[in-house]
Amino acid sequence: MSTAALNTLALSSLRGVGPKLESKLRKLGLESVQDILFHLPLRYQDRTRITPIAGLQPGRDAVIEGEVRAADVVYGRRRSLVCRLEDGSGLITLRFFHFSLQQKQQLASGVRLRCYGEVRRGPSGLELVHPEYQATSPAMSGLAATLTPCYPSTEGLHQASWRKLTAQALKLMQNHPPVELLPAQATAWELAAALRYLHQPPANADLALLTAGQHPAQQRLALEELIAHHLGLLQLRRQTRRQRSAVMPVNAGARANFLAGLGFELTRAQQRVSTEISKDLTCPVPMMRLVQGDVGSGKTVVAALAALQGVSAGYQVALMAPTEILAEQHLNSFRQWFEPLGYQIAWLVGRLKGSARTEQLQQIAAGSAHIVIGTHALFQQQVRFARLGLNIVDEQHRFGVHQRLLLQQKSETGRVPHQLVMTATPIPRTLAMTAYADLDCSVIDELPPGRSPVTTVAIENNRRQQVLQRVHSACTEGQQAYWVCTLVEESEMLQAQAAEATAEALQQVLQDINIGLVHGRQKPAEKAAAMSAFKRGEIDLLVATTVIEVGVDVPNASLMIIENPERLGLAQLHQLRGRVGRGRKQSHCVLLYQGPLSQTGKSRLQAMRQSNDGFFIAERDLELRGPGEVLGTRQTGMMAFRIADLLRDQSLIDEVRRLAARIVEHYPERVEPLVQRWIPQGDIYAGI
Ligand code: ADP
Ligand code: MG
Repeated sequence: MSTAALNTLALSSLRGVGPKLESKLRKLGLESVQDILFHLPLRYQDRTRITPIAGLQPGRDAVIEGEVRAADVVYGRRRSLVCRLEDGSGLITLRFFHFSLQQKQQLASGVRLRCYGEVRRGPSGLELVHPEYQATSPAMSGLAATLTPCYPSTEGLHQASWRKLTAQALKLMQNHPPVELLPAQATAWELAAALRYLHQPPANADLALLTAGQHPAQQRLALEELIAHHLGLLQLRRQTRRQRSAVMPVNAGARANFLAGLGFELTRAQQRVSTEISKDLTCPVPMMRLVQGDVGSGKTVVAALAALQGVSAGYQVALMAPTEILAEQHLNSFRQWFEPLGYQIAWLVGRLKGSARTEQLQQIAAGSAHIVIGTHALFQQQVRFARLGLNIVDEQHRFGVHQRLLLQQKSETGRVPHQLVMTATPIPRTLAMTAYADLDCSVIDELPPGRSPVTTVAIENNRRQQVLQRVHSACTEGQQAYWVCTLVEESEMLQAQAAEATAEALQQVLQDINIGLVHGRQKPAEKAAAMSAFKRGEIDLLVATTVIEVGVDVPNASLMIIENPERLGLAQLHQLRGRVGRGRKQSHCVLLYQGPLSQTGKSRLQAMRQSNDGFFIAERDLELRGPGEVLGTRQTGMMAFRIADLLRDQSLIDEVRRLAARIVEHYPERVEPLVQRWIPQGDIYAGI
């Protein structure tokens, strides 16, 4: 048996991998046969059995087989090809919105078909919309022997190719077993067995368990992945501590001056956190601090005080926000605070083009801009800072660790910038220790005085009229309101359409109200114009998609309607609701839901009505997440994992820490291979 390590086997040792495919795989960060095996399925399909039509359940994928009874083009709201299929147990509709004449002819009465797709409830019974199908023939291959894995992929790389690649890689694995890097007895599952199981789960595997990510084979790998990330972050922290940053002494005069101009007193929590940051900045060791503070707790001004310490010590400060809307809002606040003190502010977002952009870049490079505010655009290649001393990242959960690190590399002074990251997404402590193991943590656990908590009610959509009246009377009394449209689809286009349609419909019934619209498909200038008109009070009701989710601050807005809140996770609802309750006025949030609600749906809305406390809500969120209900990384606020899920796998955290410590102590030579195996971009960690 050869002992060549799997991670040294080149991709080209797999059949069918030529230069073109190889470069695609490399783009995904896959460089060896081992990497292919660690590229794990996102989900599974069960194509191992045929379900009788009578036994189909909406919402599930299924293979069915039957005989075509009819196929007709139907002219309804949308032209569609409708085919009726019968299998002796029942009848089902196959519906195609895009089809060719040839396709219609193929689906002639009497033809036997095998189809695969998601069963949905249609206008006249169950349907498969755009199913995969093929005519059955005696020569047709049988059903799948294993569950069918679906891999995360990239354009032009089909699932069938992935399955071929992994099948070959699994074969190679027999002679080149992957190195076990976890201490013996850490888990019952051998690494090779777990990988084999997850790429080719047997037909009798528990699909629900796999879908929920709770299978022991998945948990075995999740454990290893979490350990790898934890080790990577610890490594990063150690490396960072060896580096040097600018020393920024406190300028007491400037600070007092700034505070005097604010128009409000800092809360005790703001003072405490600001002092912690201030101390860090006076040390030559790079600060790496996370500020957690619930929505509305006043993180921006704490960031501004840190920026003040940086600029008054003669360094540049960068402030990065996840959306243009938020960046623009920070720009306005910072201008108001800093320009009177003689500091210049530059501004860099994607939409800034041509000479305006060049001008900003020059100011940043020349050092005449003291504070630079922007979006992701800040860490592009062309951006050069003269003497960047401090990076502030707002709403950290929207950025990956890597993006944060990219900005970290922006210093031209030979010193590493200090780093301050802020988030409103409450992270249970155990999770924070893994996801943010490289950061020190401060918490702003107090809201500014005079806020009354937002009152939240849930109202079913059949009482919409009542809600409209409420919006009308609020707006005619000089209050401002948000109307948030939600859609499950990730498609910005559909979200935008829904928001546009809603805005039109609302304008029809609320004719004397000024209605504005903001969504992700608008040109940035349009977006900015709508936001600032709302801020100036020229718009009474702002219809929006979830683009306004983070950070937006319009204190006069005191009413928020969230349509179909049942579609959103609790964390996201809490963020959205945080857009109101920012001024002195009593604010209200109406959750305009579509009944009937599931039990979880009810409990979720109940949690929102019960509490305004982000930490309470985060805990409820964890409890309420039923198996299989997967929150995206965007929503959980965590970095992307291949198989682990920080919320789902919370119970592993203690073990992760224990095992990681054991590895560092007894097997330090395994740290690097573990990090490399799970974090191929690990060189970014190493590069700092
Ligand atoms: P978040 O923590 O959600 O980022 P912001 O920084 O946007 O919150 O602050 C929310 C609002 O509260 C802003 O209008 C801000 O000016 C105001 N604010 C912040 N700190 C205080 C304070 N100590 N007293 C009164 N208002 C404050
Ligand atoms: Mg904020």
